[in-house]
Amino acid sequence: EVRAGAVLSISGVGLSFGGIRAVTDVSLSVDAGEILALIGPNGAGKSTVANMISGVYTPDRGTITLNGRDLKSVPAHLRRRGGIARTFQAPILLLDRSVIENVLAGSKSLGTQSWFRGIFGGPSAHRQGEADLAAAQHALERVGLLELAELRAGDLSYGRQRGVELARAIASSPEVLILDEPAAGLNASEAATLSTLLLRLRDEGLAILIVEHDMPLVRRTAGRIVCLASGQVLASGLPDEVLSDKRVMRAYLGS
Ligand code: ADP
Ligand code: MG
Repeated sequence: EVRAGAVLSISGVGLSFGGIRAVTDVSLSVDAGEILALIGPNGAGKSTVANMISGVYTPDRGTITLNGRDLKSVPAHLRRRGGIARTFQAPILLLDRSVIENVLAGSKSLGTQSWFRGIFGGPSAHRQGEADLAAAQHALERVGLLELAELRAGDLSYGRQRGVELARAIASSPEVLILDEPAAGLNASEAATLSTLLLRLRDEGLAILIVEHDMPLVRRTAGRIVCLASGQVLASGLPDEVLSDKRVMRAYLGS
């Protein structure tokens, strides 16, 4: 399951919360130019896996590597700078700030604070500030929200707020993109736009891990699927294989 040359690999990872095993033993890997879907019933441990990869939680066993480098001692903010971007199951936005400011918070070097410093600072800081602004605008354009850049994030619909979050994640040109239920709360046309964008990002070489319940989206986008149940890998392989696996169907029915 863990293949040499993968951009992101997790191997034998586990984590307990106060004696309760949320994740028992999970191994998976994602290549450049690949979308891997992580599916499974509620409570299977999908978000916990995403949180361990992005550094929100530290696994109590197993290893996580980015391009072969062990991330154990790399804190979340450095993982972000090192090329792992993510969105959360519930979007986390600064609702009183503008859309573009929210996207700038994901800038490669800086974040909003330093962007302002860039605009008012010396020439090299200024250039970096402008590069970040261009990247943020480009990311908004890709999610179809550039015209809304100056609106207050809190005034957007839920589906559009999710788009802003995705723009923030891709604004830093990450190598790995982790999306926790990106289609939740989207209408059909927003979900279709999302799958088109994910396929484009894949074709540009991103390694994408998508935690998702929306099977049409999974079928449209994923090259491989890993199904978790009770913190373990229940099945993995090509979408047709995994989605027709009796154990997978039973795990969903039982949830
Ligand atoms: P999924 O995303 O697949 O629905 P989660 O990863 O959110 O599942 O949760 C897996 C298990 O870990 C669940 O039993 C959940 O209650 C538990 N869990 C997740 N996060 C925490 C936490 N911070 N503290 C305690 N238990 C947690
Ligand atoms: Mg979850």
